Amino acid sequence: MFFRPFIVAAAALVFSTSACPEHKYTSGPRLQGRQTITDPGANSTQNDWAYEASYNWHRVSSEYYRCQNGTQQSPIALSLGNGLALNHVPKFNYNGSIAGDFYNWGYGPAFTVKHDGNWTSHPSFTYDDMTVYLKGWHVHAPADHSVGGDRSKAELHLVHVDASGHEAAVMAIRLDPGNFDSAFITQLPAMIGFNDMGTIHPINIDFTAALESVQHFNEFWTYQGSLTSPPCHEGIRWFVARQIMFTGVEQMQQILGASTYSARAEQEVWQHRINE
Ligand SMILES: [Zn+2]
Repeated sequence: MFFRPFIVAAAALVFSTSACPEHKYTSGPRLQGRQTITDPGANSTQNDWAYEASYNWHRVSSEYYRCQNGTQQSPIALSLGNGLALNHVPKFNYNGSIAGDFYNWGYGPAFTVKHDGNWTSHPSFTYDDMTVYLKGWHVHAPADHSVGGDRSKAELHLVHVDASGHEAAVMAIRLDPGNFDSAFITQLPAMIGFNDMGTIHPINIDFTAALESVQHFNEFWTYQGSLTSPPCHEGIRWFVARQIMFTGVEQMQQILGASTYSARAEQEVWQHRINE
């Protein structure tokens, strides 16, 4: 999931940042159309940690202790040997076209839902007695979660918060190249590169195609996990779709071309209560 690209706001553009289970997204003045912040120092990732060295994040900072001694760290390896989830079945309330900003979170394509201060107005899903609200999504490449030993080319994380805005649940959809274009990816504008965090493109997205591609999570794994980047906070319920969202070959090449290595090493299963 996320990481924490620290966004340094340009003097003229005062951004506010909000932590996303893996990155900070800047929400600021609404930009009309596709615009680029030209100050080369305006936006950049300044993480003190790297995905390439995810075994040792606690060595980087004592604040990242949970990455080292946590009991529910993500991601983990999954397989049909775990069975599939029978509990916590999600029911989606993602209706219509959803406005937000398309950008790059420093590691791959991303989108944040337009926020008016009220999380409960966002698209949501319900499981058990919980309702969580879509904050946005981002792509990791390669996938964080392997299934049966196979790692997909990329993984889409739909990050959800509770009514007060705290990260609570992540829907993970694995992406692989297939024979046909993905209708979900087709509606996206041109990809923005990982080294271009200053570009924000307001768009509207319909999530129907994404949910249909994984049969609305009718088959999935669920477990108690964490953010997949420092500080590795726990208390996140993960839902990993069994179905894969297939994209066209060129679509996958565009996604990968806009991305950089962003998968945390898989963690040992401990108190994750897979499918419980
Ligand atoms: Zn993520």
